Amino acid sequence: MQPPIETDILAVGAGAAGLIAAIALARTGHRVALVGRKPPPLPGRTVALFEGSLQLLEQFDLRAMLDPATSPISAPVRAMRIIDDTGSPFRAATGYFEAEEIGLDAFGLNVPNDDIVQALARVAENIDNLETLEAFVADYAFGDDGVVATLDDGRRVRCRLIVAGDGRNSLARRTAGIEATEWSYPQTAITLILRHRRAHHDTTTEYHTRSGPFTFVPMPPLPDAPYRSSLVWLVGPGEAKRLLALPREKLGERIADQAHHRFGACEIEGDIGAFPMGGMRTKAVSAPRLMLVGEACHVFPPLAAQGLNLGIRDSVDAARALEGVDISDARALSQAIQSFEDSRRADIDLRTQAVDLLNRSLISGLPPVDFLRGFGMSAVSAIGPLRRAVLREGVSPHLSRFLGPLMKLAPVARR
Ligand SMILES: Cc1cc2nc3c(=O)[nH]c(=O)nc-3n(C[C@H](O)[C@H](O)[C@H](O)COP(=O)(O)OP(=O)(O)OC[C@H]3O[C@@H](n4cnc5c(N)ncnc54)[C@H](O)[C@@H]3O)c2cc1C
Repeated sequence: MQPPIETDILAVGAGAAGLIAAIALARTGHRVALVGRKPPPLPGRTVALFEGSLQLLEQFDLRAMLDPATSPISAPVRAMRIIDDTGSPFRAATGYFEAEEIGLDAFGLNVPNDDIVQALARVAENIDNLETLEAFVADYAFGDDGVVATLDDGRRVRCRLIVAGDGRNSLARRTAGIEATEWSYPQTAITLILRHRRAHHDTTTEYHTRSGPFTFVPMPPLPDAPYRSSLVWLVGPGEAKRLLALPREKLGERIADQAHHRFGACEIEGDIGAFPMGGMRTKAVSAPRLMLVGEACHVFPPLAAQGLNLGIRDSVDAARALEGVDISDARALSQAIQSFEDSRRADIDLRTQAVDLLNRSLISGLPPVDFLRGFGMSAVSAIGPLRRAVLREGVSPHLSRFLGPLMKLAPVARR
């Protein structure tokens, strides 16, 4: 048998969260190996990354590759429009929010998932103290003084710590026995890229409908297509089937209708994606010699563009907790893992609950719930200081730091 590959930290998963964790850990000086294979394409999927996340990426030299001035992959989001299209008698007033209100040029950037993963993988390949292993982990043996991961090609890796960004079915999480609660929503997200006749003015337009959000997010122009957006459309599974069976031209017309012709005629570009919606939260984000990042420890529907923004904070907090730590010292390592656990809990719980609540309030159809949602959204739009506080919290979270101790006392109800 071949001797195992030796490293200090094994980052698992070549999706965005695993790659960012591996790069951030290597750039803080640790010897890291990253195991994973290039993920299959995610048709029509983009991620809106907020300014707070971009600032975190900047600390690890990962922002410039997304800058629209030099890179054609991203588009700025300078304003957000939220339209209550539920037809409820308690409809919220339309909200229109500009990044300028909170002193920013843009709330963030919209980037295709596949492009960000590809750009991160290129960076990872060129870092000396980061070795990339093209394989999957097939098995973990967690021990008192280290972990041995067996790869699906038979190689073994011995390390002190696993940082797992191995997605919602995380083998690392299951092997370490971290409990997870999962649930599903009666929704499928249809995702695609559109060319449209009228300008988006760098504005995200989110219609709240009875089946969930229907959201246009700006995409960069092409020489023959000045106005492009990505679309995320949450509909019931039956409706998703019907829509996906339509000829592309008809689906484009159906989308233009659903958007009340705000963007004019719509033409679909490239492949169309369909993703069943679900949620997941875990009892912890760590175990001895293990930290979880990204969807390995939280999953929720794409409302308010929170998923990967949260995943970036997981990955960066993992690197920060381990910065300057001698991970061969078991006590120092376990303290760093505890500090990671403490730093992540409230942020994850707050986002998971807020997104779940908003999503359920849209699809419930109950008048009192409509009333509360309509009232809350209208208040956020109308009351200046509240409006700016909510915008700041969305773009660069602070609230969870205050709520941390309270949320520890009142854990989220289990479903
Ligand atoms: C429709 C939609 C729209 C969204 N929009 C936004 C948005 O605007 N903004 C935002 O912030 N978020 C958004 N999200 C969420 C975001 O896309 C996800 O949070 C993010 O892509 C998850 O990345 P990840 O790296 O955690 O997981 P994944 O992308 O699932 O990556 C996990 C990786 O681990 C690999 N892996 C699994 N098991 C193993 C193993 N044993 N060994 C090695 N590798 C393994 C997998 O192959 C995969 O490549 C959206 C989600 C959806 C569904």
